[in-house]
Amino acid sequence: MLKGKGVSSGIGLGNVVVLKKVERNVDKKTIENEQIEHELERLHMALNEVAGETEAQLKNISGTEADIMQAYLMIVQDPTLITETENIIKNDKYNVEYAVEVGFNNVAQIFQNMDDEYMASRARDIIDIKNRVLAKLLNEKNVDLSNLKPNTIIVATELTTSETAKLDFKNVSGIITEIGGENSHTSIMARTHSIPAITKVDNITNILKDGETVAINGILGEIYINPTPEEKQKLLAIQNELNVEKLELEKYKNEKTVTKDGTKVHLYSNIGILKDVELAIKNTAEGIGLFRSEFLYMDSDTMPTEESQFEVYKSVAEKMNGKEVIIRTLDIGGDKELKYLKLEKDANPFLGYRAIRLCLDNLPLFKTQLRAILRASAFGKIEIMFPMISSIDELRDAKKVLEDCKKELDGENIEYDKNIKVGIMIEIPSAALIADKLAKECAFFSIGTNDLIQYTVAVERGNEKISKLYTKFHPAVIKLIKMAIDGAHSANIICGMCGEAAGDPLFIPILIGLGLDEFSMNSNSLLKARMTINNLEKEKCEKITEEVLKMSSAVEVEERLKEFKAN
Ligand code: PEP
Ligand code: MG
Repeated sequence: MLKGKGVSSGIGLGNVVVLKKVERNVDKKTIENEQIEHELERLHMALNEVAGETEAQLKNISGTEADIMQAYLMIVQDPTLITETENIIKNDKYNVEYAVEVGFNNVAQIFQNMDDEYMASRARDIIDIKNRVLAKLLNEKNVDLSNLKPNTIIVATELTTSETAKLDFKNVSGIITEIGGENSHTSIMARTHSIPAITKVDNITNILKDGETVAINGILGEIYINPTPEEKQKLLAIQNELNVEKLELEKYKNEKTVTKDGTKVHLYSNIGILKDVELAIKNTAEGIGLFRSEFLYMDSDTMPTEESQFEVYKSVAEKMNGKEVIIRTLDIGGDKELKYLKLEKDANPFLGYRAIRLCLDNLPLFKTQLRAILRASAFGKIEIMFPMISSIDELRDAKKVLEDCKKELDGENIEYDKNIKVGIMIEIPSAALIADKLAKECAFFSIGTNDLIQYTVAVERGNEKISKLYTKFHPAVIKLIKMAIDGAHSANIICGMCGEAAGDPLFIPILIGLGLDEFSMNSNSLLKARMTINNLEKEKCEKITEEVLKMSSAVEVEERLKEFKAN
């Protein structure tokens, strides 16, 4: 048995698919005249195969994804690109692989040099297509993450957030990686979709082979290669226990979220992609407290258009049927990259050019999203939330851009919710410290503990080496949460929380004690949170909170809360 760190609980049994980064070598070879025809034939066969696959994908998708595939199809059939590549074979007499490498790069370069951001980003598509054509020519195995066999166990050095967003979740029984952290977005997504996940398993991509049978225990981080009947039996028993707990939680599906002594709170879901909405509804989310809109951008190979975004936002609003849907504007940066947005690497990505900072610096990109959200607000109860606000000036600047978008839509006679609410994330200590001031200029707060913790204790959220120091129980973090909630209430606005801490049964008593109004979390944690809240008394929570606020050690706070839970 191998061991790693369990980051998403559950038992998984399936067959391994190893994702290895391919080191590609494209040889440059001269060819004889009589080989030209053969190389041209190979070129067209590879192009046709890629076009065929793209056409097949187009049949099953719509919206943004379909736009992208349509653009890919046009590229793969583009006469300029094909002629450029054919000429390298016919005139310069080079092998087809080299011709594709050079021909596609030349055309991509022309696009890259264009001033228009949209046209420049087409270069990325051309390179993507080049890679797909080369993979065909070189007979490389290419795993299509969005179309996997049932019971697949994904094994990778590291799974990027965008790779995880593409996963065919229904067929994934587990994820094992060499690198990753408990609070990385990949781990959050695995938990959302109830996929057992284990990280920090050295050399696993070389230990496991494609097709091998593996069982994993995401609670304890255990990996069993070709499990024996006894091992399977043991895991099955754990699975049965989990099923019993699940059944117990089902009872809370039809209940309101209210403490024993009558304090009602909102219990909302965090979503990242459209398919997360179904899960939120299934688990009786009372609204969407955080729509991480950046996944829409990450799930795409090109910048999503206003129209494609509008379709997704509208669809979420309609599916939620009049319930609140808080859409957070693009929060890219940190561990979330957009490959088609060619940004310089920041030395400290989490302290760098990201989220609202990047949006305020790229108005066409920001306005495209705001217009799409505003337009969708005519179809449901949509609200807008700005991420990573660190000062009141940023909030004012962002609101000004939103007002400009509203004026544009007014001029075009396009409908939107004229009273759309605008709120902010409180995830930077500076924002918590001036929460009372910020609260006067927005309609709601949502505390992002995932980032608030990392910025308060100066511990990168995904860095395992120092993960012991990353704790919500640190009295400084609790004080900042209190400041945010008190600040909101001083201006009579609602304060929610959409960081992972909102769904931790151990931490919930403090949040109730501090008066948090809305709890938003991955859909998988909803019922457990409701069960926890419905079994608490606000008065007792206030007492334990008062006690905890006097403490100075995170370890002691955690111990005290464990004791409180046990009684
Ligand atoms: C947070 O920081 O707590 C949060 C909810 O945002 P994200 O995890 O997407 O950074
Ligand atoms: Mg955040």
